[in-house]
Amino acid sequence: MEFEPTEEVKEPPRIHRLDESVVNRIAAGEVIQRPVSAVKELVENSLDASSTSISVAVKDGGLKLIQVSDDGHGIRYEDLPILCERHTTSKLSKYEDLQSIKSMGFRGEALASMTYVGHVTVTTITRGQLHGYRVSYRDGVMEHEPKACAAVKGTQIVIENLFYNMIARRKTLQNSTDDYTKIVDLLSRFAIHHINVSFSCRKHGAARADVHSVATPSRLNSIKSVYGLLVAQNLIKIEVADNDPSSSVFGMDGFISNSNYVAKKTTMVLFINDRLVECTALKRAIEVVYTATLPKASKPFIYMSIILPPEHVDVNMHPTKREVSLLNQEVIVEKIQSVVESMLRNSNESRTFQEQAVEASPSVPPVTSNDLDLSPLPSGSKSQKVPVHKIVRTDSSDPAGRLHAYLYSNTQKHLERDSSLTAVRSSVRQRRNLKETADLTSIQELINDVDSKCHSGLLDIVRQCTYVGMADDVFALLQHNTHLYLANVVNLSKELMYQQALRRFAHFNAIQLSEPAPLHELIMLALKEEDLDLESIENDDLKEKIAEMNAQLLKQKAEMLEEYFCIFIDSERNLSRLPILLDQYTPDMDRVPEFVLCLGNDVDWEEEKNCFQSIAAALGNFYAMHPPLLPNPSGKGLEFYRKGKHGKNPQDGENSSSHVGDGIAIEDEFEHELLSEAETAWAQREWSIQHVLFPSMRLFLKPPNSMAVNGTFVRVASLEKLYKVFERC
Ligand code: ADP
Ligand code: MG
Repeated sequence: MEFEPTEEVKEPPRIHRLDESVVNRIAAGEVIQRPVSAVKELVENSLDASSTSISVAVKDGGLKLIQVSDDGHGIRYEDLPILCERHTTSKLSKYEDLQSIKSMGFRGEALASMTYVGHVTVTTITRGQLHGYRVSYRDGVMEHEPKACAAVKGTQIVIENLFYNMIARRKTLQNSTDDYTKIVDLLSRFAIHHINVSFSCRKHGAARADVHSVATPSRLNSIKSVYGLLVAQNLIKIEVADNDPSSSVFGMDGFISNSNYVAKKTTMVLFINDRLVECTALKRAIEVVYTATLPKASKPFIYMSIILPPEHVDVNMHPTKREVSLLNQEVIVEKIQSVVESMLRNSNESRTFQEQAVEASPSVPPVTSNDLDLSPLPSGSKSQKVPVHKIVRTDSSDPAGRLHAYLYSNTQKHLERDSSLTAVRSSVRQRRNLKETADLTSIQELINDVDSKCHSGLLDIVRQCTYVGMADDVFALLQHNTHLYLANVVNLSKELMYQQALRRFAHFNAIQLSEPAPLHELIMLALKEEDLDLESIENDDLKEKIAEMNAQLLKQKAEMLEEYFCIFIDSERNLSRLPILLDQYTPDMDRVPEFVLCLGNDVDWEEEKNCFQSIAAALGNFYAMHPPLLPNPSGKGLEFYRKGKHGKNPQDGENSSSHVGDGIAIEDEFEHELLSEAETAWAQREWSIQHVLFPSMRLFLKPPNSMAVNGTFVRVASLEKLYKVFERC
């Protein structure tokens, strides 16, 4: 090749096998993502080795040094040569063993991985030996023969200079806050679950340990010693079990915080089959109950240990084994959620609920002195007054009187439930290669912002209200307890969609556009729509330039837009896929041009958090349930179509029709089509508001404080007096 440099350029590049150490390093980066993941693997190994005491020391957040010492059964001398090779394990030999795996490790990847991204030294002694052995590893192999050394019972593993050969990773980690707090948090979690093991965690060289637990028979004692008295004294014991093979088989026991507990962040310590895992669905389901039940906007402390038949858990779906997927997850989550709810209600005397009712009222805007009067609507609203006699009580589950409930059969109501574990597995596998949501702290921060700005009074309204109907193009009428409210569905849906975009981040299902839409043209359309008045030639040139620049910009960002937001832009610069923010809902495609322009113009591409936020906001605005662009055919909007039919001047309608016979017939048909299109658009929107927006809001929306003051909710009437009459009947 060296002799023909010019030839080489024309030929396709050679495909060659990657050097094995490169492959291994890439894989290692997946298993060991940050120092805390190395600690987790090491501690799990120690637990698997039946240790009763495990201590961890860390330098420089784990980047300089991680040292885990245990008093477990140790490692045989003969096994040391292959200890750090990939796929060497003592815990699994047949594939079937996976079904019943009890240990935490089984893939034999952790130690190997560490040797590809750090310097690993193992010191170990097995029972009955006079001395131990020490040996160092690099890239999966021993650097020298094991050296005899003095050792105390068990194994000590030291990792130095983690990620020394992954410069980018090291830099990112050095810039972010150090992993030490994460490591302390991890050890605390292990400590309160494995109460027969004593744990300690300290900074290297520090005299004081930041986690120090001693073996104890009482879980509560352990929680007290790790998380403190303030946590321990505010806990309620919880137990749930189900043994119905047709729905779910599981047992759960744990502790949850009561109404006196105050914290800004949720602490959820979850073990499933003794494995420390995360389950976002369960966490959110419980948080929902807390916000709905407790007056203070406190986040809960939760410790739960769930035991399931091993074959119902897929432990192998995630490279770090952190997330598991369960058979019948929804059923289990629901059952636990309802028990948490009833326990909270029971532990909370009625006092709590009175408090909540009192708290909710002052936060909700204008209440007029006369309960049955309508309060003034925010300026700029096109609302018509709703006569009180038209305000009726309806039940959201009862479709009576709502024609659309009959018009649209709701066949896809429930997504097909995965019935077999393989299905669960494959659906989650698809996500395996995505960057991990949980590791993107900026998205977590945005979600936390949403949570922390949630208005508890409005949340209660959103959760408990009954949808009565649309009062005008923008406001829906709701009933909550004895009050009627007008709620701005555009604002509400915009916020809901924004929050959904954050929550589903990187995990969207896709809407495929029937035809890929060219970005350039979309942006031109939007620009033209923006200034209909300024139609000049030079302006068009300018628009072309803007469209070109924006289309180019979006193409450059295509990879990120696709991976995180499921907005797919192909190499031809066509938009062909959009994310599903709420199941059963597609946005108004007439708004695609505006959305694309907004992506180009309004998104901050520089800073990660702002970038995600502005994209989610653009999606929110696009998916919001705006009034359709076509005028409302019922009420005033109908005039638009009549006007069109009779020419430009409605006054001389008769004349124009007699002059131009054929033209009118065509126009007529066109208007007719337009009218029916408009009717469908409006009817569909109303259907979506009732059947998608309101039910989803009940489940997912965290209404921000700002909604209490910006006219999104307006209290229009109180039904208390009517209720009294009603109760007497
Ligand atoms: P896995 O845990 O999946 O088997 P690892 O790479 O984590 O894979 O560990 C490989 C093997 O090394 C384990 O199967 C176990 O036999 C042994 N081992 C690792 N750490 C310890 C320890 N602290 N005490 C005893 N044996 C250990
Ligand atoms: Mg392991």
